[in-house]
Amino acid sequence: MPAGDGPVIRLENVHKTYDLGEIQVHALRGVSLEIKRGEFVAVMGASGSGKSTLMNILGCLDRPTKGRYFLDGTDVSQFSKVELARIRNRKLGFVFQQFNLLSRTSALENVELPTVYAGIPQAEREKRARESLERVGLSDRADHHPSQLSGGQQQRVAIARALVNLDILQRLNDEEGLTVVIVTHEADISLYGKRALEFRDGRIKRDSLTQKRLIAKDVLPTLPALSDSDEEEDTPATASAPDKAPAD
Ligand code: ADP
Ligand code: MG
Repeated sequence: MPAGDGPVIRLENVHKTYDLGEIQVHALRGVSLEIKRGEFVAVMGASGSGKSTLMNILGCLDRPTKGRYFLDGTDVSQFSKVELARIRNRKLGFVFQQFNLLSRTSALENVELPTVYAGIPQAEREKRARESLERVGLSDRADHHPSQLSGGQQQRVAIARALVNLDILQRLNDEEGLTVVIVTHEADISLYGKRALEFRDGRIKRDSLTQKRLIAKDVLPTLPALSDSDEEEDTPATASAPDKAPAD
């Protein structure tokens, strides 16, 4: 993003209230926040704490009820839907990740999927996906659909996918200076970021720098090379999928 040296994201006392007629839900209750260019921020917090509402606003998918949002210096808090869509296309990228593996899609493609959004060339995508499947001991299952895999194997595919995903985000951040904001339920996933924000009841409860940042491409080779004979229903792993909690 070209403009100036100011923060990429600045929220000033942002509130979001969902009006359900009878009741009003105060999803964000006065959030002020600055994120600078090149930061990698993990947003955490219990279900219902306001993470998705925040991300919708940051992502220009929704507007604050009150307060201001400056995106790269531009106050977008009163933008129309069309204006939001335009700035979204120019300045923002999204990776949506679901807990469930896509059922009609091979293990390999499931792992590759996030890299499609990141615009990485096909050969490179496949290479990275194969490597990470190998790390979790599933290279011979690359072509299997989730229904052809055990619960533990499916979980390992999800771990492989999560690490590929994190690796890409870290590379975009480190090598291209892209600003990254992720949402996660998992404290260990927040360790891949440089800064962690914890939400509670629509407010920022904690804002801290990550002490020992984990690097996905270094963690991948340290995963225990699981084999099916090792497998139990809850396969232990050194990394957990960021998306294993119910989608929110
Ligand atoms: P999180 O992502 O942390 O689980 P959300 O931002 O989804 O939290 O939700 C925050 C609060 O706002 C919750 O109480 C939730 O029920 C409510 N909420 C979220 N989206 C809507 C909506 N579209 N309409 C009404 N209430 C909503
Ligand atoms: Mg949510």
